[in-house]
Amino acid sequence: MQSVENRIKEKAAELLTTKKVDLLIGFERGTMPLRASPAFIYDEADIEKLAWNSFCEMNLARYLTRITSKRVGIIAKGCDSRAIAALVVEGQVKREQIMIIGVPCPGMVDRRKIEKEIKGEIDKVEEKKGEIIVKGNNFEKVFKKNNYLYPCCKVCKHGNPSIYDILIGEKVKENSKVDEYAEITEYEKKSPDKRWEFFEKEVSKCIRCYACRQACPMCYCEECFVDSFHPKWVDKSLDFSDIAIWHIMRVYHQTGRCVSCGACERACPMQINLRFLTEKINKDVKVYFNFEAGLDLSVNPPLAAFDIKDREDFIDTC
Ligand code: SF4
Ligand code: SF4
Ligand code: SF4
Repeated sequence: MQSVENRIKEKAAELLTTKKVDLLIGFERGTMPLRASPAFIYDEADIEKLAWNSFCEMNLARYLTRITSKRVGIIAKGCDSRAIAALVVEGQVKREQIMIIGVPCPGMVDRRKIEKEIKGEIDKVEEKKGEIIVKGNNFEKVFKKNNYLYPCCKVCKHGNPSIYDILIGEKVKENSKVDEYAEITEYEKKSPDKRWEFFEKEVSKCIRCYACRQACPMCYCEECFVDSFHPKWVDKSLDFSDIAIWHIMRVYHQTGRCVSCGACERACPMQINLRFLTEKINKDVKVYFNFEAGLDLSVNPPLAAFDIKDREDFIDTC
């Protein structure tokens, strides 16, 4: 049977040569071992660059709001497709402009965990039947892929693309029984003081580089509130109060919009646990509104849906 990577290349060639798309966004091997990079393919001659492996972790939907090509093909795992759907619902991307090549995702591997266990320079990485084989000068080490998944992938219930035009590869078995909010439930059990302590400890490591924002497919504002001078919402200092406002505002802006892809956390150079914030709002939205972003093109996120009969008695009119 042809590999998923070969089938992606074949489909990309067909779409580009028949001019069904002007640009194909996919993945290519990174210049460093254990990494992949986004690939922007305009020409059939570059199709060989395309790759599909356990390091294709970026959420490619991030690029859609910046692209000017008329018709774009995009490789979409479960979380990429959810972000595309959420962007369509928010009117940021036209569904008819995007050809979604869905690829069921069995989970992506956290390279940092593997790197921690390797002493020496990595020359080569291979993947075989659920194993990652890392080779270097005088060593070869085998890692069981499932033991090295990213936290968001370990509890992912939506590895299969939620929307797609073409599907490549067999659908993965989604683990509907996993409790994706188990960590959050533990966090909620803490007293308010302990929760604040945890928040303070995590976010005070922040250097305000905004890599988390840049990696997030749902952060597309032309001017982010943290960059605005008129009006100025928050100072640019590293005082804890300014850092705290940045994190609280960022996460509130994601309410009902975050697709749990983990791109923000992976991008953070300070390795801040950003999931405890995003998953807390995701859990609340699920519990109170029975909603998860990017699963249904016909449903608006709860905070973007208004009805004349909405309750207003909580609004203080004094
Ligand atoms: S969050 Fe789900 S769809 Fe996204 S990379 Fe992880 S397993 Fe795949
Ligand atoms: S906030 Fe983080 S987890 Fe949520 S969509 Fe953005 S990058 Fe993905
Ligand atoms: S990527 Fe990390 S350090 Fe940079 S702004 Fe985001 S949380 Fe702060």
